[in-house]
Amino acid sequence: MINSKTRLIGIIGYPLGHTLSPIMQNKALQEMGLNYIYVPLEVKPVDIKKAIEAIRIYDLMGVNVTIPYKEIVMEHLDELSAEAIACEAVNLIKNEDGRLIGYNTDGKGFVAGLEEADVDVSGQILLLGAGGAARAVGHALATEGVQEMTFLDIDRLKAENLADFIRRKTGVSCYGLEMNRETFALAGKNADIIVNCTPSGMYPEINNSPIDDISMIKKPAVLCDLIYNPLQTKLLAMGRAHGLKIINGVPMLVHQGALTLEILTNLKPPIDIMREVVLHQVR
Ligand code: NAP
Repeated sequence: MINSKTRLIGIIGYPLGHTLSPIMQNKALQEMGLNYIYVPLEVKPVDIKKAIEAIRIYDLMGVNVTIPYKEIVMEHLDELSAEAIACEAVNLIKNEDGRLIGYNTDGKGFVAGLEEADVDVSGQILLLGAGGAARAVGHALATEGVQEMTFLDIDRLKAENLADFIRRKTGVSCYGLEMNRETFALAGKNADIIVNCTPSGMYPEINNSPIDDISMIKKPAVLCDLIYNPLQTKLLAMGRAHGLKIINGVPMLVHQGALTLEILTNLKPPIDIMREVVLHQVR
């Protein structure tokens, strides 16, 4: 029940449209017996500075940050975690008595999902897409001690820049190339873990896939898609038919959310219940 003691957690982004975080996090907070609520707070770009000030004014516990504000919020914060500094992006702001601290739980959330599925985080990694999600996931994988990473993007420069960024930050060998059938075949045949970090195949464009031939991928490689709606993208369906281990975007969504609540409350959230909520929403 909401009363005068209820504390607020938010998510800021624009547009917020179909975010599943409020329903997932409110169920978790309820199960944890905490008098907190989690609300979507859509913010127009012109108001982002004022929205961050409002975290202090309303004494919010914290806010998740999503597209397009993960980078821009950094200049308004008092402190940054090691992951946020390394990724140069923030997906969580914690309010500690008016001091705003930026964190990034996306990459660790992805790695936690791999560990949960007993995937050995090593060897050669192929990431499709070189946007914000690829940066967080790529950085987290690089710090786990993988051997080599290749980024493929339709924009060659973006792929090269991200590869340079991760190489500089972590020392891991990284390559950035334009995405096409030839580069995919070249990098795909040696990859141990392949991660789709593009939105290709996401609802409602469910007949799309970043690539239409994965026959060269060796078994037993692991094929991951950050997309969680649909639960099985066209790419993952191809992977399953080819005999690969497949992982969708649900584990990352759930674990980054669980890490958010852990950072804000210092308590362990009910991961299985959070997963059930997400699966119920997208099934
Ligand atoms: P983003 O910043 O738009 O980056 C996507 C990148 O992929 C862009 O550079 C895009 O190029 C490129 N791209 C698009 N289609 C491609 C293709 N067919 N082949 C190669 N590159 C392609 O998006 P993002 O924020 O990184 O998010 C990417 C995906 O991850 C989204 O589907 C998002 O929902 C998902 N995600 C999931 C979670 C989770 O918790 N499961 C968390 C974060 C993100 P252009 O810009 O030129 O189109």
